[in-house]
Amino acid sequence: MSLLDVEGLCVDLGRVPVLSEVSFSVGTAERVGLIGESGSGKSVTALAILGLLPASMTARGTVRLEGEDLLAASERRRAQLRGDRVAMVFQEPTSALDPLMRVGRQVGEVLRIHRGASRRQAHAEAVRLLGRVGFADPEAIARAFPHQLSGGQRQRVVLASAVACRPSLVVADEPTTALDVTVQAQVLDLLRHLVEESGSALLLISHDLAVVSSTCERLVVLYGGRVLELGRTAEVLEDPRHPYTAGLLATAAAVSDGSGLRGRLPALAGSVPSIGAFPSGCVYRNRCERADEACLALPRLESGQGDHRFACWHPLETGRAPEPRTGEASQSVVQGANRASGEKR
Ligand code: SF4
Repeated sequence: MSLLDVEGLCVDLGRVPVLSEVSFSVGTAERVGLIGESGSGKSVTALAILGLLPASMTARGTVRLEGEDLLAASERRRAQLRGDRVAMVFQEPTSALDPLMRVGRQVGEVLRIHRGASRRQAHAEAVRLLGRVGFADPEAIARAFPHQLSGGQRQRVVLASAVACRPSLVVADEPTTALDVTVQAQVLDLLRHLVEESGSALLLISHDLAVVSSTCERLVVLYGGRVLELGRTAEVLEDPRHPYTAGLLATAAAVSDGSGLRGRLPALAGSVPSIGAFPSGCVYRNRCERADEACLALPRLESGQGDHRFACWHPLETGRAPEPRTGEASQSVVQGANRASGEKR
């Protein structure tokens, strides 16, 4: 049994499907990346796992955390688990923090709620955690209000709060996207070290292939609310079988300035349809050069080598990596993936 098992997850907005049959797993202390363009269903997947879908959306399927079905759990039980067994880091730290509460109290609050810590114990641990996330004077930061901190500092506070209870799983949704480019790498590095130190697994959600490939051991590629490809990061990036994954990789390489990947994924050819407007059959067929009549039917995930799987009637031939316009940049993504995988071997 994996730490997190998502099986046949479907989310509807009214009668419109937003996620369809999404299945993947995250092992204990494993780092898994959920990658895809905006509108592919990544954040909805995170919200469904966390039990935070808006009232207008309904979820079916199963989401098991350490064997417990979160979709079947009561709201009270899900609230108990959030912050304790599963923690969240969202894109915008400002909205995650209470503007009227001092930072130290916010970090300590998690320990008071979930661990029954006294006010004094919670404060001491909050100061320790603020030191751990890199503040030189954690006592002073503990006394500060969120508006007195920079965006990067606020996200460090959110990270300290997220790992306070040593959760089994941290779900981080675009955790560096709202930050200055200069601090993105530091915060990502810190996130990685914190989850390792806490023994937590990480589900990292991003449109940024460089971020995900350098951090995660496995990848899940999402588009149109469906999983199109998944497997070990190095396998998927060195030998992408789905045309969409290959497009992401080639595009990431193309936007590099040659001194390394910027990693932003601009739209591939064509644009991502809005919710409810994805084609029937293969959801990628209105953007795919390989589309033919066979693609009017829905392709299922097929096995490749190992646990590498992809959903395509006409997959790329194995060993045929995409031909990026900037070879150096493409190598950089794959090398990052190899580092992420190698460190766990
Ligand atoms: S199933 Fe067809 S349309 Fe879909 S990705 Fe494969 S070749 Fe392209």
